[in-house]
Amino acid sequence: MNAPAIKSHGANRTRTEDLLERRSNAFSRGMSAGQPVLADKAKNSEIWDLDGKRYIDFGGGIAVLNTGHRHPLVMKRVYEQLDRFTHTCLMVTPYEPAIQVAEKLNEIAPISGPKKTMLVTTGAEAVENAIKIARAATGRSDVIVFTGAFHGRTLLAMSMTGKVVPYKTKFGPFPSGIWRVPYPIPHKGFSVDNTFEAFKWLFKTDVDPKNVAAIVIEPVQGEGGFYVASADFLRRLRALCDEHGILLIADEIQTGFGRTGKWFAMEHAGVEPDLITTAKSLAGGFPLAAVVGKAAIMDAPDPGGLGGTYAGNPVACAAALGVFEAMESENLLEKSLRQGETIIKRLKAIKKRKAGRPIGDVRGLGGMTAFELVTEHGGNDPDPAAAKALAADCLERGLMILTCGVFGETVRLLAPLTIQPRILKEGLDILEDALVAPRS
Ligand code: PMP
Repeated sequence: MNAPAIKSHGANRTRTEDLLERRSNAFSRGMSAGQPVLADKAKNSEIWDLDGKRYIDFGGGIAVLNTGHRHPLVMKRVYEQLDRFTHTCLMVTPYEPAIQVAEKLNEIAPISGPKKTMLVTTGAEAVENAIKIARAATGRSDVIVFTGAFHGRTLLAMSMTGKVVPYKTKFGPFPSGIWRVPYPIPHKGFSVDNTFEAFKWLFKTDVDPKNVAAIVIEPVQGEGGFYVASADFLRRLRALCDEHGILLIADEIQTGFGRTGKWFAMEHAGVEPDLITTAKSLAGGFPLAAVVGKAAIMDAPDPGGLGGTYAGNPVACAAALGVFEAMESENLLEKSLRQGETIIKRLKAIKKRKAGRPIGDVRGLGGMTAFELVTEHGGNDPDPAAAKALAADCLERGLMILTCGVFGETVRLLAPLTIQPRILKEGLDILEDALVAPRS
């Protein structure tokens, strides 16, 4: 390993311990780290830490690595681009890789008719720009979002996010004109009918639908808990939008790029949004995000109204072209569906054993899978402490997993779609051991 030499503060301390201390001295408290591991190198579904310990990665740096760490087709394009140029600013001197990415996004987005794209750098920026575009296109201001939504950490995106701790604490006041209705979660008591009842009340008590520019929905909630929106719900949502001239924006930042077995999760329901936001796995580990949508809507802002210094960075665009190539040549959409089936089957079998940590709801769409930790076998009461303990236990055993959920009780599994079957099995074996025979 070629990690830089560091100052050691004690004879028995590991390099990781030293660096974690330096990290907490150097970084704002607000930027906390989820796990006490420092990455040294990574390949496909494996990460090695600074002390040489190997981990299987079922988190993908929060859903960014559908094509795994350093996919050869991604890295090839990145190296080639690095040798040409790394920045000119897309708004000043454009370049072919960005145009190719936009053309490709327009081709695959599940929206009929002519489409256009705009590129930015992060998911939050994509969400903010989608709202700007929707406002320009409709001449309306307001936005409706859902409980448990996650749309980013910038001020507007954070205000649209539906979880207080830790995302919103101390950061108010929030902009006006953002309204919230319950995301349907039948096993938690929120039916699809409840959601539409809430819309009815919202339109009577708080906002005239004529002022609403857009409804923003994650077709499978990401940070909120991997709840899958049913096709019936999405169809009714589309009808509600059409009735009131409201745009439907699908936030596919976590669900996109094959995670659910389709390019975009909306395809499962056969419902067309007007705009889609995408980021994360779009560029396989490089910062790139996009809004793609109906051309007439995308063209509503005036020239110069959209952009950003680093928008559509050429290296990130080259990486995205590698991601497209990998997804297509390795049939990763199909692999996502198979991966999801394998994982859900295994989780259901573990749940049936009724041993160790109690598992609640098991759910997913394609390779976007999750399960809840509950307080007792057969019960439904969330146990966030158990989810946290499970993640720590798995980490010690060499498996990285991430939790999510409004109450923090959900474990999400986001193994790369490129993972070798034997490593997927090894990871699931570790997970099963940590569930049925907990160490912590
Ligand atoms: N929307 C969704 C659905 C997300 O999952 C995320 C990130 N977790 C974002 C928006 C924000 O993306 P970023 O962190 O790149 O700003």
